[in-house]
This record gives sequence, C-alpha cells and structure tokens, in this order.
Amino acid sequence: MQIKIHRGVNQIGGCVTEIRSQKARVLVDVGSNLPNCENEIEVNIANISKKCDAVLITHYHGDHIGEYMQVSKDVPIYIGKQAKEIFTIFQNKMKDTGVTEITQDHIDKIDTFKIFKQGVPFEIGDMKITPIRTDHSAFDSYMFLIEANGKRILHTGDFRLHGPMGKGTPRTLKRIGKVDILICEHTTLSRQDENFMSEFMLQEEAISLIKSKKYIFILCASTNIDRIASFYHANKKAGEKLFICDIYQKKILDYVSKNSAKYTDYYNFYDVKSFDSELYKNMVSNGFCMLVRSNYFSKKFVYNPRFRNNLFIYSQWLGYLQGKTAEKDLVKFVPKKYTYLHTSGHATAEGIIEVCNIVKPNVIIPIHRHKLIRF
Ligand SMILES: [Zn+2]
Ligand SMILES: [Zn+2]
Repeated sequence: MQIKIHRGVNQIGGCVTEIRSQKARVLVDVGSNLPNCENEIEVNIANISKKCDAVLITHYHGDHIGEYMQVSKDVPIYIGKQAKEIFTIFQNKMKDTGVTEITQDHIDKIDTFKIFKQGVPFEIGDMKITPIRTDHSAFDSYMFLIEANGKRILHTGDFRLHGPMGKGTPRTLKRIGKVDILICEHTTLSRQDENFMSEFMLQEEAISLIKSKKYIFILCASTNIDRIASFYHANKKAGEKLFICDIYQKKILDYVSKNSAKYTDYYNFYDVKSFDSELYKNMVSNGFCMLVRSNYFSKKFVYNPRFRNNLFIYSQWLGYLQGKTAEKDLVKFVPKKYTYLHTSGHATAEGIIEVCNIVKPNVIIPIHRHKLIRF
C-alpha cells in the first residue's frame, strides 16, 4: 500500500491524504486551507480525485471538506449521515446570507454524497474501510480503518478523548487492535496555549456562570453540537432560563434531536426556542441564555441597553479573536468584556499517547500540526 499526504503535514487544516492499494485509490478529506494559513501548498483536487475511486470525509469542518466541489463528478464522496445533513443546513445558510460564494450547485453536490454507518465496513476495490465514530467539535466525526493487501492503516481525522463520546474511542480501538500505520492528528502539540478541561468540567463551570447573571449570551460554533449541549444542560441545572437561538440554529438542533432520540436523550433540544417577538417580555422579566454569532440579529440583543447587565461567554478558540488568525467581523462583534470558557476539540498529548498505546502502530505519521512542535 502507498500513502501520500498531499497537504496537512506541516500545517493545521487543508487536509488531503491519498491511500493506494493494489486495486483501489482513495482520498481521505479534501480540506481547504484555514484562513491566514502560512503554508501556500496548492493541491489540485480535480486532477488527483480523477484517478481515485472514492473520497472519504472524516467530518464537515472546512479544513477537511472545503474543496469538495473540486472532486471529479464520477468519484463518490462518503460521509456520515448526520454530518451530511448538518453540512447541508450550514451550506444553505451560507448561500442565503450571500457572505461566501455558495450556490445551489454546492447544495446539489452534497445531495449526491454517499452515506456510511458507524462500525459497518464497506468496500472500495480491494480496500475494506471501517468508519469509527469519534468525539470532536464537529458532530458525527469519524476515524477510518483502511485494510488492504494484508496491511492496516488507521486515519484519525480530528478527534479528542475528553468529550462526551471520548471514552468510546479507546474501547472501539481496543477491539480493532494493532495497526501497521497510524495517521494521527497532532494539533494541540503546536497549540500549547489551549486549556484542557473535559467537556463535562466545562458544563459544571457553565452552571455557575449562568446563575451569575440574568441575561446570558453564548458564542460558540453553530455546528459544535457537544458544546451547545454543555450549555443547554448547564442551563437546566442552573434553574432553566429560556434557551434561545435563531431559526438557522434551531433547524440544526431539531435535526440532531430527531436523529438522536432513538439512542440518547442527551441531544434532545426540542424545548430550545427560536426567537419570536412574543418571547421578548418573558426574556426581559425572567432572563435567558441565547446562542449568538456575529450578525445583525445577534447584535440587536447583545447591544440592547435593556440587556446591558449581561454575561457574554466566548466559547471557541481564542485565535479567532486575537493575533494573526483573528477574524475582523468577530472582533467587532464580541464585547470588550467577555468571559472565556472553552476546551479544545482536539486530543491532548495524553490522548494521542493513549491511542498509540492501544493500536501499537509500526509507523506514526503526524498530520494537522505546525512544523514547530513545542515541548
Ligand atoms: Zn481540522
Ligand atoms: Zn475539525
């Protein structure tokens, strides 16, 4: 078998990995470079994908799926079922706001994506591919075990062990056992400023924050379902204020609620309300938790003098707010005084070591990391 990391060895994001066996060729992820990425490695996805039998997507973050429009028409793209639906809602929102160049073609192409199931192997030529559901800041994320010609390769995609589904990954990997090659994300080894409380510890801290003020604004990624669940459950434990979002966010949460109902109640968000003017009086008198983002709708609440005495919780990577990776609109939107409460979507050094110790690879190929790893 042959492995070629087209992009994503010495940078975070822009991930494109090619794996070749005697009779098959697949790409794992077709990611875009993150904004402000220092490496300018150009990868011609159209050309590479033409020679491939399939594209496997680990998760819907742009640095793993962003170049999907470049994938040759006859090459099937595989993704998790819920990831496909959430990505469709997300791209539709992008199309409607007109902020990016998302057209109906982008939506139609997602419609052609094929679905795989957690733990159910499928075949591409002589390759056997097993998707392994994993915990990450994108819902319905996967690792892939790829077996062919007597060899086993595990591609981790982005993952962590300190989220609500994190404990399941070592259990599954123990069943899988030894692999020959581990292609593993190493994000946090080059981002030592990150804070590593578990998602449940974050939820505990959120309870006291929500109790501390009447009006709570929360900024986190609209597709980071586990983070939203943390605040949602924290709010229940804090006395249950109105939990409010916009129509787009409600669409995502309703989809997740509907699809998770069979398995768990943890992702049941049915009583989250999308804003309606009839709620306003109740919001003023009883307080609320509101999911916000940098748009006109959210600004109307965050900067409403009536809600001046609020607590604004910033719950995503600080790099979006500071330094070279800062996003202009976000910097403008987030109030000067905010409370930071976040934990990474990426495995800690200990998490990476744990995975290595379970699958005992002969070779580790680190990806999704900066060239300079600080110790
Ligand atoms: Zn990534
Ligand atoms: Zn990711």
